[in-house]
Amino acid sequence: MERFEDLYQSKAWSEDYVHRRLSEILTHECWLHRLQVDQTKQKGMIQAVHGAMESLKRTRVLGPLFRHEPRRWAYFQRFDAVNIGGISLYATPDIAIFHQNKWSLVRIRWASKGEEQSEVLEDTLMLHWALNHPGFPNDVSMFRLRTVTWNKRSWIERAIEINPTQLEASWSLLEHDLQEMSWIRRCIAADPSFDSLPLAQNEQHCRTCKHKQTCPAKNGLFEAKQRRRRKGQ
Ligand code: SF4
Repeated sequence: MERFEDLYQSKAWSEDYVHRRLSEILTHECWLHRLQVDQTKQKGMIQAVHGAMESLKRTRVLGPLFRHEPRRWAYFQRFDAVNIGGISLYATPDIAIFHQNKWSLVRIRWASKGEEQSEVLEDTLMLHWALNHPGFPNDVSMFRLRTVTWNKRSWIERAIEINPTQLEASWSLLEHDLQEMSWIRRCIAADPSFDSLPLAQNEQHCRTCKHKQTCPAKNGLFEAKQRRRRKGQ
């Protein structure tokens, strides 16, 4: 996103600058997650990310921006929420491009769960966001939805179909998630030990979890689940 920000202001990134920024970000992330990564591996990771950033320039939807082809476009931060009926909706597209009389709302992903329906519905929420964001038309027919996902070798570009059923289903998914969150909040209020909260399905999620130190699974997910089983929870 930093790169798009600079691209918007016509600032070019040199090879050296790309390497320096990626190295700074990687060092910061390692520190944040208390990870030790040796220099050779770090170099490999930086090169891999740099390669991916370069190939982003060849994607059909974003390539024209890097080639400075005439487009009206804007970039957004993910915390730019809109309020819909008292709900703060964080479903910001990363980039919005106006071309051939329509806005393409684009989400960039470094990893994907695949082609799961829930992911498609989450992406459809971008449309609810845009329809309620000042500066965009309040007309569904004025939009296209696009995702650009890195699959370790190349960027996969997808067009998400827009139809009334999908729009409604995406909003229902959001309402369902809100209900789940309020249920979790009630659980925490009733039992501050967090023992009634659901645990992760897989230990992998715990490895980089920022809440691990205060979680019942701080000494291992398996052990936490066994303890709960013994307590009959
Ligand atoms: S450490 Fe706890 S909160 Fe974090 S992913 Fe594992 S179970 Fe969930």
